[in-house]
Amino acid sequence: MSTRRESIEKLLENTEVPLTAKDICERLGISSTSTVYDDIEHVSQTIRIKGKEILIRPARCGECGYVFWDRHVARTPAKCPKCHSEHIIEPGYIIQPGE
Ligand SMILES: [Zn+2]
Repeated sequence: MSTRRESIEKLLENTEVPLTAKDICERLGISSTSTVYDDIEHVSQTIRIKGKEILIRPARCGECGYVFWDRHVARTPAKCPKCHSEHIIEPGYIIQPGE
């Protein structure tokens, strides 16, 4: 029996494309994305000890393409600071094995 965080870790390790919080919810039957964001932040710290790292495909604006580089393990921003669009493409997560 593995914990939810372990399941997320495994899922992100075995995926070939970055998964969004919504993808993770669907695959693991988790009801809230904010649970997933909290878990990802936790997992990103625990896997560092094991020499692994979460790579983040940053969120970006669906209208003008603005990329939210400054956000690390973060929630989907509500609005684009440049064009004020609310059409934000969610960040994706994937775990890369360490050297
Ligand atoms: Zn924009």
